[in-house]
Amino acid sequence: MANLRAERAAAIEAVGAASLLCRAVRKALIPSDSAAKADRSPVTVADLGSQALISLALGDAFPNDPIVGEEDASLLRTDPDGPIASAVLLHVRAARPDATSAMVADALARCSHPGGATGRFWTLDPVDGTKGFLRGGQYAVALALIEDGEPILGLLGCPNLSVDPRDPGAAVGCLFLAQQGAGAAMIALRGEQAPEALIRVSMPASPAAARWAESVEAGHSDQGDAARVAQLLGLGQAPLRMDSQAKYAAVARGEAAIYLRLPTSDTYRERIWDHAAGWLMVREAGGEVTDIHGQPFDFGTGRGLERNQGVVASAGGTLHGEVLSAVARALNG
Ligand code: AMP
Ligand code: MG
Repeated sequence: MANLRAERAAAIEAVGAASLLCRAVRKALIPSDSAAKADRSPVTVADLGSQALISLALGDAFPNDPIVGEEDASLLRTDPDGPIASAVLLHVRAARPDATSAMVADALARCSHPGGATGRFWTLDPVDGTKGFLRGGQYAVALALIEDGEPILGLLGCPNLSVDPRDPGAAVGCLFLAQQGAGAAMIALRGEQAPEALIRVSMPASPAAARWAESVEAGHSDQGDAARVAQLLGLGQAPLRMDSQAKYAAVARGEAAIYLRLPTSDTYRERIWDHAAGWLMVREAGGEVTDIHGQPFDFGTGRGLERNQGVVASAGGTLHGEVLSAVARALNG
C-alpha cells in the first residue's frame, strides 16, 4: 500500500474547504450565480469556486500533479468582470485571502489534463450533481488520485447528506475517504478532528430485500429500465433517488445495496470524475462496481470511460452477478 499521508491530508483539507464554499454559495444563491454551458448543463459559482480552491491547494502541495477537472476557465475569461467571475473570486477569497482573479482563472485552466493509462493525476468534479445542488438536493465534491489507471485515493464531500440516515435529527454534512488497500471511512464534514468511522457495505438477507439507488434525473439513468430490473429481482422498496456520487456513498455505508445507472443513450460516455472517487469508496467498503456488461471500469482511457457503459454497484458477493443478469435481461428482453 502506498504511503499517501500527505495526499490524504491535503485532499481532506481541500475537499472540506470546497464543500463549505459550496454551502456558502447555496445559502445565498441568486439567479446570476448560474449559467448554462455549451452542452446546456448548468454551471454555478460553486462549481467554479470549488474547482479553483482545490486546484490552488493541490498546486501548492503537489505542483507536478496534473488535474483532470470538469470545469475550465472559459466563462471567467470571456466575462472577467461579470457577476459569476466576481462572485467566484469573493468565495475563493473567503478561504484563500491571497487569491487574485488571475490565480483563479489559471487554477481552473490547469485542470484540462487529458488523463490516460500511465502516470499519476487527480480527477475532480467540483460539484457533482449540479442539478441537485440547485434543487437543494444532494451533491458531492468528488476528488480522486489515479495512478497508472487505478484510483488509489478517493474523497466525497457531501454537504447535504445526513451523518446518520436512520436519524432524521442527525447532523448534515459528511466527508467520505477511501484509500486503496486501507478501507473506506466517513468523517463529519466539519469534524476533521473527529475519529474516522470505517464504513462497510451491508448485504441484504436476500436480493429482494435490497434497497436500491438511482439518479433523480431521468436523463442520466433510464428509470424505466431500472424499474424492470427491480421487478426481475423482486425488489420490494421504492428507489432511493439521489443526485451525485452520494449514491456510491450510500452503497458504501450500507444505506443501499444496489446502485443502477442504466444508459439513456448508446453514445454517452461516463466522465472519469463522475466515478473514480465513488468507485473506490464502494470497493474499499467491500462492495463491487462494474459497468452494465459486468466489465471493470478502465480509468486509463482519457477523460471519459471510453470502454464502459453505465454502472452497476452493489454490496458484492453473489448479489452482483444476480443484478448483472437482471440488467442484461431487462435491457435485452
Ligand atoms: P447524477 O447526479 O448521478 O444523475 O449524475 C450527475 C452527472 O451525470 C453529471 O455530473 C453529468 O456529468 C452526468 N451526465 C450528464 N449527462 C448524462 C447522461 N446522458 N447519462 C449519464 N450521465 C450523464
Ligand atoms: Mg458530475
